Amino acid sequence: MIEIKNLEKSFGDNQVLKNITEVVQKGQVICVIGPSGSGKSTFLRCLNVLEQPSAGQIIFEGQDLTNISEVELNKLRERMGMVFQSFNLFPNMNVINNVQLAPSKVKKSPETQVAQKAAQLLEQVGLADKAEQFPQSLSGGQQQRVAIARALAMDPEMMLFDEPTSALDPEMVGEVLKVMQDLAESGMTMIVVTHEMGFAKEVADQIWFMDEGYIQEKGTPSEFFANPKTSRAKEFLSKIL
Ligand code: ATP
Ligand code: MG
Repeated sequence: MIEIKNLEKSFGDNQVLKNITEVVQKGQVICVIGPSGSGKSTFLRCLNVLEQPSAGQIIFEGQDLTNISEVELNKLRERMGMVFQSFNLFPNMNVINNVQLAPSKVKKSPETQVAQKAAQLLEQVGLADKAEQFPQSLSGGQQQRVAIARALAMDPEMMLFDEPTSALDPEMVGEVLKVMQDLAESGMTMIVVTHEMGFAKEVADQIWFMDEGYIQEKGTPSEFFANPKTSRAKEFLSKIL
């Protein structure tokens, strides 16, 4: 579970996040949607303090991430996997080594355990046969699935996704969303910034609609998509649906 209390973030005099207070329960899947520039990425980056909040608290596993030592913060960060739009795989390492690197170097897990887990994760994302290949020989969809496996290798309690499919060719979007849907169904706690409304409708427990630094509206997908309450949400949906 993660608790967000009175979160604010400004860059200079541009206040990007304005007093956000929310809770995400274990096993919940939240899809964050909203217009470009509304603060979605900044919000996600504040959750694991990749971006230092200007005010407020992020309570994860009982600890306030905005107010702990760098060492403790790094330990807790390991328990939040993050997947970005650009896959950022290590180009000089094959797929299996990409997946194994963090658990073996950071967690110092035993090598046989790391290897077994990595093989199982590649199986899970449908890439068991690509273990020895290098990232540049894979399609974008395959690279993104490796990035998901790599994040899962640390056994995170929670996964954060920032538009994981928006850099992909359309025909590769489905395979990545499928992996994410399976992960959601396995009970992973997930916060997903996405423009994929089909995915949001089907997989999210809650939709958070973000606009101008606030979560303006939230609800179940059926409530939100059938009956958006705010004029901003109505306008947004009319543009994209
Ligand atoms: P998109 O849908 O285009 O990804 P977003 O909702 O993710 O948009 P953010 O990237 O969070 O929006 O940006 C929100 C605002 O914060 C924008 O005005 C942006 O210019 C500003 N911003 C984000 N990061 C920084 C930064 N590092 N320094 C200064 N301003 C920033
Ligand atoms: Mg963004």
